[in-house]
Amino acid sequence: MTPDEFRRLGHEVVEWVAAYRESLESHPVMSQVSPGDVRRQLPAAPPVDGESLDFALSDLDRIVLPGITHWSHPRFLAYFPSNASLSSVLADLVATGLGVQGMSWQTSPAATELEEVVMDWLRQMAGLPAAFTGVIHDTASTATLVALLCARERATDHSQTRGGLQAEERPLAVYTSEQSHSSIEKAALLAGFGRKHVRAIGTGETFAVSVDELRAAIERDLDAGVRPCAIVATVGSTATTAVDPVAELAEIAAETGAWLHVDAALAGSAMILPECRRLWEGVDRADSLVFNPHKWLGAAFDCTAYFVRDHEHLIRVMSTNPSYLRTAVDAEVSNFRDWHIQLGRRFRSLKLWFLIREQGVSGLQARLRRDLANAQWLATAIAAEPGWEICAPVPLQTVCCRHVPAGLDDEAVDAHNQAWVDRLNASGFAYLTPAVVKGRRIVRVSIGSEATERKHVEEAWAAMRRTVEHM
Ligand SMILES: *Cc1c(COP(=O)(O)O)cnc(C)c1O
Repeated sequence: MTPDEFRRLGHEVVEWVAAYRESLESHPVMSQVSPGDVRRQLPAAPPVDGESLDFALSDLDRIVLPGITHWSHPRFLAYFPSNASLSSVLADLVATGLGVQGMSWQTSPAATELEEVVMDWLRQMAGLPAAFTGVIHDTASTATLVALLCARERATDHSQTRGGLQAEERPLAVYTSEQSHSSIEKAALLAGFGRKHVRAIGTGETFAVSVDELRAAIERDLDAGVRPCAIVATVGSTATTAVDPVAELAEIAAETGAWLHVDAALAGSAMILPECRRLWEGVDRADSLVFNPHKWLGAAFDCTAYFVRDHEHLIRVMSTNPSYLRTAVDAEVSNFRDWHIQLGRRFRSLKLWFLIREQGVSGLQARLRRDLANAQWLATAIAAEPGWEICAPVPLQTVCCRHVPAGLDDEAVDAHNQAWVDRLNASGFAYLTPAVVKGRRIVRVSIGSEATERKHVEEAWAAMRRTVEHM
């Protein structure tokens, strides 16, 4: 494709994306296709000869769009907000158009230095101390894996330079809440701790980790010769946005020498609001922290912010530094290839740069405050409605609820809630996620899509009530 053909088709593609965003409400929120529907429409073998991409646009409408679940839809209330603000979509186009690999400073100095600057903006926006340095990862899952690798290497005085974990005399344990994201367990397993040494600590009424149970688990391990290596705190759990007491966990980490990693993948965005920062009080004592600007904040996926207190340690664990990658300026610059697992890296900081410049901190704050207020409004409305229950505190933008018809036993109530949410989702009008929390089936209403205004939350709540009436 020549630049001139790109210009012509590119304008059409931008127009297509703009029209898509304008027409969101005309689509069913959850894709209505059945397994195989999309695949069946695609040729099984690649085209031998090239063809004009003019066809591609009509195929997007015909084949791809029906197979899309519309995460930007104003009544997308499932999972978590995954906003792709149009400013960051443009930045993504620029990043890809430049086609650079930002693995070392020298391979594109702007990619490194812009990232340093916007990650420091983000640090300031979230109210984090200057001791933290940030780097962009693809996802929270990989950042958490890196955190646990760093914890492992600190606890073993760099066992990887010797016999690795296999040569350690005492096993190392990782502690996290039973409500923590599956990526924590996955990271612990991948980092070699072994399922036997991953402790899922019980939670109390608010679904926050029980500090007493954590202390008891650590005691038991110490008695058995197992070393506490890392504590992973969750601020904003996946099921209910539960918030672990970070300050108390930091205290335990300090006493035991364990690494403290904070998983605030969703909730971190809220910390640009000073009134939310009490939720992670004590975070300044964490060793590492992850949050996803690609969730609620609005940077198009993927864009994860990983902050560490000791970046020298991170580099020591992650750097391989072969001779062919060394450059004369290495002492003066950051080479982000040494800050994470992969070598090659996209110019993702452009997405944050465009987003933050276009919205300003105040614009981003206003949108998040709107979402928090909508969640409070919905929680109040549900709590006031006979037959409905709020199932967890609502510190952020997710409302956990269920409908409890009179005369049903627990099992029947669970089945009823699964059934009405399935029916509502299948209707395409709104999309919510069912979840099981401590054995009970609940329904999560996760507010925070960029396009979601109060009116859409009201419409979804009306649809929830209508749906249960017709069960
Ligand atoms: C979304 C989420 C994750 C996983 O994020 P990825 O970036 O998809 O890996 C982890 N923890 C919490 C609390 C989350 O909300």
